[in-house]
Amino acid sequence: MRRALLHEAPTILISVGEDFKSIVWKAQYDMDFNTECLFCFSERITGYRVEDELGRSGKVAVCPHCEKVNAIYA
Ligand SMILES: [Zn+2]
Repeated sequence: MRRALLHEAPTILISVGEDFKSIVWKAQYDMDFNTECLFCFSERITGYRVEDELGRSGKVAVCPHCEKVNAIYA
């Protein structure tokens, strides 16, 4: 498990291209995007509202096929 340093910025620690592990993240479905995945040929990616173990939350768009993070959005 990743240990987070408690700096002032309450942003989630996830980045584009990372494998999205829904076990680690408390993920709630947010919306679908009709956008091609950056990493495979999937034509749709799914947005989730996620929260880490420290309660920091954000929204990420994940490809349902290769499960890589395509974007972080507000
Ligand atoms: Zn993909």
